[in-house]
Amino acid sequence: MTPIGYRVLIDSNMGLKLFNTLTRSVEEFVPRDPDGKSAGMYCCGPTVHNFAHIGNFRTFVFADLLRRYLEFKGYQVNHVMNITDVEDKIIAGARASGLSLPEYIRQYEEAFWEDSRTLGCLAPHQAPHATEHIPQIIGLIERLLARGLAYQASDGSVYFSIDKYRARGSCYGQLVNLNFDEMRVGERVNADEYDKESLADFALWKARVPEDAAIYWSSPWGEGRPGWHIECSAMSMQLLGPSFDLHLGGEDLIFPHHEDEIAQSEGAGLQIPGERFVKYWLHAAHLLVEGNKMSKSLGNFFTLRDLLAKGFSGREIRYVLLTAHYRSSFNFTFDSLAGARTALGRLDDCLAKLHDIAGNASAASDAVLLAEFSAAMDEDLNISAAWGSIFNWVRDTNRLLARNQVSPSLAAAALSAWQSIEKVLGIGEKPPTEAPPEIVALLEQRQFARKAKDFKRADSIREELKAMGWVIEDTPQGPRLKRGGNAA
Ligand code: AMP
Ligand code: ZN
Repeated sequence: MTPIGYRVLIDSNMGLKLFNTLTRSVEEFVPRDPDGKSAGMYCCGPTVHNFAHIGNFRTFVFADLLRRYLEFKGYQVNHVMNITDVEDKIIAGARASGLSLPEYIRQYEEAFWEDSRTLGCLAPHQAPHATEHIPQIIGLIERLLARGLAYQASDGSVYFSIDKYRARGSCYGQLVNLNFDEMRVGERVNADEYDKESLADFALWKARVPEDAAIYWSSPWGEGRPGWHIECSAMSMQLLGPSFDLHLGGEDLIFPHHEDEIAQSEGAGLQIPGERFVKYWLHAAHLLVEGNKMSKSLGNFFTLRDLLAKGFSGREIRYVLLTAHYRSSFNFTFDSLAGARTALGRLDDCLAKLHDIAGNASAASDAVLLAEFSAAMDEDLNISAAWGSIFNWVRDTNRLLARNQVSPSLAAAALSAWQSIEKVLGIGEKPPTEAPPEIVALLEQRQFARKAKDFKRADSIREELKAMGWVIEDTPQGPRLKRGGNAA
């Protein structure tokens, strides 16, 4: 640990750099806001037809990390994450369950928010539902029809025309390179879409079919429901404006979902000339489990709830999800969960000692610790390097602690820096040791005996607790119970 004021590394001009899928390069983040203060961020949210799996949560934890880091950098973030509450899998699931669409969705949406909280994710500022934005979706489709970029097929469905979009000089294939010769009509993707003029065209409005049962809305094109892509275009532009800063999702969404969002949103031409729909596109690589793609047949498919049932905490799972860079496909293993427990234990012990020493002292944040952390995070959220600097600091601090070389103000400076870092990492405090009530009652009796200067009784209670597996640590803030002692 470096004494306060020793070296100030933070350079306020140092900017955050992010890999933009649109330009396939690392770029400095410059928000659209002329004052450079606010940032609009949209992350494609869950399709609530089941419990979210830990792969889904890798992407949502990444979005949470980016939002928290932007806030750390002083931006006022407007974080929007939609809930996809109408699409093929949901309709099939609702039908099979015999529940109405809202009832079916509610159970999984509530579970999703509960799981997000367990993982320490901050609630997005806005969480729009597709079914609550049908008028905006219809308005956007009408605009695309009026601009000649969409057409209605004979079954009533409305499609986006890639050919017409390209004919007016727009590029389809900005996030990925596409070979249009392979995308000709003829090969039919699915019976639902037999009316498309071109294979690449995608549905903006899907005409009602018998399997939709009671799930449909009225529109100028007859009864039906929106396509998935248009939902995100309509909701993001409604809440963040026709141009906004950041759009996130897992890498599987790059094509066609995000490519189609660009085509629809820019095709509608609501942006100020020269402005894009989205300035920075960011994608999280997929999570593998024990080296394989998650699949039910391989037995490596885990929801958050599966892992909690195995005795791991949300905090440990979040830690594992935050150990790898968001752009590297990352292998989730049970060994890494065990490693998370050890790493967090080291960190917690060090912080507890600093708390004891700091007492009520206050000091400015340890600038070096903060600077190292933010220098790593500025490099496209290089979280591995950020953890590296944190654990180097833990090692150095432990050395100083062992030599009794940490003063209260030094401890307070370190803790103050840690508080800012923790706000970004969101791993929370060590959960309090939950001693059973009879143990807490014994501790209280010991305190009472000490106050009454009955040290013999106080000592015998200490021994009694020890025999029951609990050790009392006397700290400047009062006694603390810790697991230990002689119990089997
Ligand atoms: P869904 O609920 O299927 O719409 O997916 C929600 C989010 O999770 C999307 O951003 C997906 O790209 C992302 N996702 C799905 N599977 C994985 C995975 N294995 N690793 C990381 N992200 C994923
Ligand atoms: Zn989306």
